[in-house]
Amino acid sequence: MNKNTALISALFLAILIVTTACIPQGAINSDPAVSVPQILETTEVVVEEAHSDHDGHDHSHEGHSHEEYVTTPEVSEEEIAATAAAKAVEVRIAAEAKAQAEAAEEAARIQAEQAAAEEAARVAAEQEAQRQAEAAAAAAAACKTDAVHGVITSYCGYEGTYQSQVQAAADALPAELKTAFVDVEIVNGCHPNAFASMGRCVYGVWDSAGWDADTHGNAWSRSLWVSNRGVESGRLTDIMVHEAGHAYSFNIARNCVNEDTDNTYREDARTIFGGEEPFADGITAYYNGAGAFQNYRGTGTALSVAETDILEKMFSSC
Ligand SMILES: [Zn+2]
Repeated sequence: MNKNTALISALFLAILIVTTACIPQGAINSDPAVSVPQILETTEVVVEEAHSDHDGHDHSHEGHSHEEYVTTPEVSEEEIAATAAAKAVEVRIAAEAKAQAEAAEEAARIQAEQAAAEEAARVAAEQEAQRQAEAAAAAAAACKTDAVHGVITSYCGYEGTYQSQVQAAADALPAELKTAFVDVEIVNGCHPNAFASMGRCVYGVWDSAGWDADTHGNAWSRSLWVSNRGVESGRLTDIMVHEAGHAYSFNIARNCVNEDTDNTYREDARTIFGGEEPFADGITAYYNGAGAFQNYRGTGTALSVAETDILEKMFSSC
């Protein structure tokens, strides 16, 4: 074989190889990526493999491509919408959890504040109760240790604002009632036993035994009290007669016998009036009229004939 023959043979062989390499692909692929280089420089034929894989996909993206720009595939509108919806749900759940946590924190804070306020109120109430107990104990101790008989300013509950008016009302009493005032002290004050039992300064008190909050025998035994509150009620004259009636009942009528009944006038009068208090109110109505303040019989209640008779007989006999 000469040199020309060999060259022709090589060329023929190359054409044959190219043809057989392309034929199995079926119809000639128009894709440039699978086109066959046509340059033949030497007897050696360079065939750049550019076949497709089994899936028919191009391998040029696996490092063989010279493309410098890549655009990744877009997902469907449905997938985009689903992703956005999922994200929105995540945001909503997170917001709800945050709101719940904040609400729980606020509730805990309010609860703590309430507990603190309740504790403060409890402590304040205890302190107030303690203060009142100490004040009452101090007042009781002062009443027992400081009071001197005859010195009304030392008496427990002495007020004194209207002492002269109260004393003047006592001095203005009818002569019959004043007979009951031997060794009786007139005090403008808030009686300690009445205050302890009633919780306020009652208008007037007749105290034959000298009572403080819980015991008797104090320096102010046989005393007649009218409080500031009683004076300020505007009924001083009526209050004074009512209390003087008690003093008369205790000091005079209790020891004065009704010869018609052999009872004391105190006993008979209490029977007719229905007790010691209406008896004292009856004496008030007797001197000051039915319109006088009568706490028990009722202001405006006039005396019956029997009531008037027993009072007149008592005052004239005792
Ligand atoms: Zn009374």
